[in-house]
Amino acid sequence: MQPLIDNARAYGQRPEEFAGHAQGQSPEVLFITCSDSRVVPALITGARPGRLFELRTAGNIVPAYGAQSPSGEAATIEYAVQVLGVADIVVCGHSHCGAVGALVRGDDLSAVPAVRDWLAHAADEPKPCDPADPTVVDAVQGHVLAQLQRLRSYPCVQRGLAEGRLRMHGWYYEVHTGAVRAHRADTDAFETL
Ligand code: ZN
Repeated sequence: MQPLIDNARAYGQRPEEFAGHAQGQSPEVLFITCSDSRVVPALITGARPGRLFELRTAGNIVPAYGAQSPSGEAATIEYAVQVLGVADIVVCGHSHCGAVGALVRGDDLSAVPAVRDWLAHAADEPKPCDPADPTVVDAVQGHVLAQLQRLRSYPCVQRGLAEGRLRMHGWYYEVHTGAVRAHRADTDAFETL
């Protein structure tokens, strides 16, 4: 922890770099990804502060609209789309995802009941996948598409898509190579960016 504290202390030594942020934010993208520590959206995209509005959940799960009220996830999505007016939403799954892997393997999650209940109520059945493959690539990619579909249940997203001011993207990030693949609608496959 101490190196992180030291860095945070040093980070605030350049206030001139941050003064503009007092005027507000106008991020271009709502970036939805897993809480996994190996996935760092700002490093992957090179985004400086102010450009990505992030939603991070266990397994980058997007709950169905109205599934739980109040919902922090729904509030974040609605604020990004309706108030901030982001033009793009990225759902980024990743290789070696613990949450998706647990679903694929049918792990006993009784020791982590909050995780068990979150996956049970929020996730769909994972796509069949070789449980011996640690990347669980097929399941993760199917899972990303399922979350994009869920986003379409949000009224604000429906409006944004209907009015042509919102685009959605499905990404798959390999934690062991740094490669990003994006879902292409024309081929229905995840291909290198
Ligand atoms: Zn994950």
